[in-house]
Formats: sequence, C-alpha cells, structure tokens
Amino acid sequence: MIIRNATILDFQDLSQRGPVDLRLSDGRIAEIGEGSSERGPSRGSAKRPVHGEELIDASGMYLIPGLVNLHAHTAMTLLRGAAEDVNEQRWFNDYVWMYERNLTPEDVYVGTLLGAAEMLLSGVTCVADHYFHMDRAFEAYRQAGMRADLSWAVFGTGEGWERQVGQSLEFIDEYGDRDPRITLSLGPHSPYICPQPFLRRIADQAGEMDLKMHIHVCETAEQVQQSLAAHGKTPVEVLRETGVLRSGTILAHAYYATDRDLEMIRASGAGVAHCAKTYLKFGDVHDFLPRALAAGVEVGLGTDGPCSNNTLSVFEAARDAAFIAKSARDDAEVAPIAEVLPLVHRGGEILGFPGYGRIEKGCPADLVLIDPATPNMVPEHNVFANLLYSLNERNIHTVIVDGRVVVRRGAAVNIDLQQVIARAVEIVRRIANRDYGGPLQRY
Ligand SMILES: [Zn+2]
Repeated sequence: MIIRNATILDFQDLSQRGPVDLRLSDGRIAEIGEGSSERGPSRGSAKRPVHGEELIDASGMYLIPGLVNLHAHTAMTLLRGAAEDVNEQRWFNDYVWMYERNLTPEDVYVGTLLGAAEMLLSGVTCVADHYFHMDRAFEAYRQAGMRADLSWAVFGTGEGWERQVGQSLEFIDEYGDRDPRITLSLGPHSPYICPQPFLRRIADQAGEMDLKMHIHVCETAEQVQQSLAAHGKTPVEVLRETGVLRSGTILAHAYYATDRDLEMIRASGAGVAHCAKTYLKFGDVHDFLPRALAAGVEVGLGTDGPCSNNTLSVFEAARDAAFIAKSARDDAEVAPIAEVLPLVHRGGEILGFPGYGRIEKGCPADLVLIDPATPNMVPEHNVFANLLYSLNERNIHTVIVDGRVVVRRGAAVNIDLQQVIARAVEIVRRIANRDYGGPLQRY
C-alpha cells in the first residue's frame, strides 16, 4: 500500500514533516520518501503502486500513528448510560452488577464489536481490554481487524482459585497463537478484591510463562486507606510484594499512588493507564498526571468502560487528562499540549510493541489519516491544539492497522455497523427487562 502526499505530525516534538509518500509492507512502514505537492507520480523513494497495490491520496491530510487505549472494558458499551449520577458503590452494586451477571458470551462479542467500531472510527488502533468471555472478545477484535491485548478478569475470591487460573491459562493456550495482532495477558482484578496469595500465584504464573499482567490499583483514596488499615501497606506496595509490580504490567489508574509508590512504579518499569474521565465523572479531581510524569512513570491513556466513561475515545481521554491536571493544580500552564498529546500513543510501547507511536521506517503500520477540512479545525493557528482540543470523529478519515485499511472515508470496513447496532439494541432490551431484584435508573 502506498500513502501519497501526507503531512506527518510528530507528537514527540510537535513538528510537521511533509508532504511525504509512504510504502507499507508486511504490516510495517517499509519506506518514507519525499512526496509531491501536486497530484501525480511521486518524486520520492516510495514508488508507484505495483501489482495492484492500493494507493491512498492523503493530499491535504495529516498522518499520525494510531491511538492506544491502555485500559478498557469494551463490552460495557452495552451498559452505556445505564448508571449515571451515582457514587462508585451504587454504580457497581445497584447497576453494573445487575447487568453483568446476565451478560452471555454472545453479548460480550456484540458489545466488543460495537466498541471496536467506536474505537476504530475515533482513530484508536490498539486496546488493552480487561473483561470476561474474552474468547468472544477475541473474535470481535479479529473480525474488526483491530490490535488488542486481552486479559480475562479473575478475582481469586471464594472457592476455586486454581480453576480461575486454569481457565485463564486454557484461554491463553488455545488463543495465544491465533492472531499476531492480538496478545493475551493475565487479568487479576485488583489488590482490594484479590487475596494476596492469589496475586502471588498469578505473578508466579506470569513469570513462568513470560506473560504480562493488567490490574486495577488505587483508583480512590479510600482504597489506599483500607489497604493501610488491613495490611499496613499501600495497594502499590501490595503489588510489589506479591510480584505483580514489574515491567510489562499495566496498572489501571494508580490515581492515588503516593510519591513513594510512584518511585516504585517507575523503578519496576510497569506502565499506568490514566483514565481521567472516570475521575472527573466521580467528582474526584487530583493531580496524579503531573506528579507521575515528573516522577518519570510511563503513562498511557485509558478510557475505562463505557458504563463509567460513556465513550472509548482516546482523544477525549487526552483532553480530560489535561483538564483534570489543570483543575487540580489550579494552573492553566500545567499539562501543556506537548506533554499530553504524546500520551495518546504511549500505551503501544507499554504493551510491548516496539516502535509503536512513531512514523519511521520499520515501525508498525498502524496509522490514522486526519482530514482537517471541517469547521471545528479552522483556522489553524496551532494544529496540535486543534487535535487535542477541537478534533472530533468526523476528522478521522482513514485508519490502518497492521498495514490494512480498517476505516475508509470515515466508515468501518470490516464491521456491518447497522447489524451490530441492531443486535446491541436487542440485547439491551433483553437484559434490561429481566427481574434483577434491584433498581434500574431510568430518565
Ligand atoms: Zn477499569
């Protein structure tokens, strides 16, 4: 495939380069050459298309690497808007649990496909998804053509720890080699739900099999207080002592990490998924991001599940990350564009994809073409400000994952959106009509 006359935007140093022509081959950027400012044959090293090679004319458009959603519960698209204006306890106990206990594997497939479509259409090419029935989620991502890291959530509570570990391992065994775009990790829920011996067991297993882990940690101040009261340790210290805190582990939130915790996280090489909209919706404004970046922690962006965050947009997550940091410090100069915008890609390296988030020869061909010819992007005093603060999904023109087009002219290529929406509506009608023995919020 050849992309002709694109202008590359580099978020690392807020620079532009172009027009350039790129040749993509075997899922990688094979060549980058000088483009032509006029339509016609390229003067650069990426030559004319050969053997029916696809040619994409990117004249007037910006090319960026695909965005990475480092923490999501994608199939919770089916619960979008079901639990609003409630605190975290009521959110889970009165609403989420009521729905989730009735979700079937097929529901997870449809909910994940809906979420994959939403992500691709907003320029997200890769997601770390932590949920249930991940064998069905796997099929959804494979069909969508999206890159994903999947972890099957396990709790380690009640009877049958080994059975839970065994099921995760069976899934990894069966699906681990099926699609090079999809990696599998272990998904212990959190140090506040999982008993410590269970966390140790998972960490040992991850070490033996060279697997990554994806876990929630210290999302609220209360979780830290409870951990200190019960164990005399912060939740991050619990993860360190049980072996979960290590390079390759994704920590969802770590929002209330102490300075000491941040230093431990940095030294371990674990990455953090910062999900600003979650905290904003729960009314919890705190200066995690500037503290974590100053401490040298690897931070990527997550959306969390659409039942708390409502969308799966990483551009929106970036915007909220800037807002929450500025608000927490009461300082407009905190979390500037140059600091926040690179975070939209950083999850790729955290997930172990070398070169992800860069447009250079040999890097993964996970790319997004942005069409700025819409009112919200004009004028262009600062294209990077427009991307962070005024871009919307209509600006996402083409999305490429692993060298293949998955969104063309703003439409998903591999997903029959009408059909998925119809099936999602059908599922929600079913699960909302059941007698849960508890309340459902209605407007
Ligand atoms: Zn979460």
